[in-house]
Amino acid sequence: MRKEDWEEEEEETPTAPGAREEARALKELRVIYRQADAAYAPFSCPASGECCQLAKTKRPPWLWTPEWRLLVQNHPLPPPREDGACPYLDAAGKRCTVYEDRPFGCRTFFCERIRGPARQPADTVNALLVRLERVSERLEPTRTSPRPILEWHEAAWAEQERP
Ligand code: SF4
Repeated sequence: MRKEDWEEEEEETPTAPGAREEARALKELRVIYRQADAAYAPFSCPASGECCQLAKTKRPPWLWTPEWRLLVQNHPLPPPREDGACPYLDAAGKRCTVYEDRPFGCRTFFCERIRGPARQPADTVNALLVRLERVSERLEPTRTSPRPILEWHEAAWAEQERP
């Protein structure tokens, strides 16, 4: 684990307090994501995109506020999909179009087709989840639970479509 991953990082270009807090939260979120990726580095999966077929799996990723803000900040909002899959899945249903910014739940999703060590890094995942919740609380104190990605998307899509 890299030393800078645990150090408090200074914001380079502070602006309004809200923007500064969001930038700090997203920076910390990226550190959490890097550590989740490192924990899952010994594992591999066939990358079939099946876990992104959310209507079928009924196991959507649940996102805290910073996770959704990262997606919205870096990617255009895609339209809903008729098949009920994640809107960020590509048209062929194979590839995540936001892979670098995909949510924590997508990085730590575990199914029987995964290959690697017999045990999941559950302790690391739990510790990172606690940290993620704290980052989210600082950014949006009124949100006390994460929200399924389809709910975030539905609300944002409705807002965008409003005349
Ligand atoms: S964000 Fe990407 S990896 Fe996660 S469910 Fe959607 S398409 Fe799949």
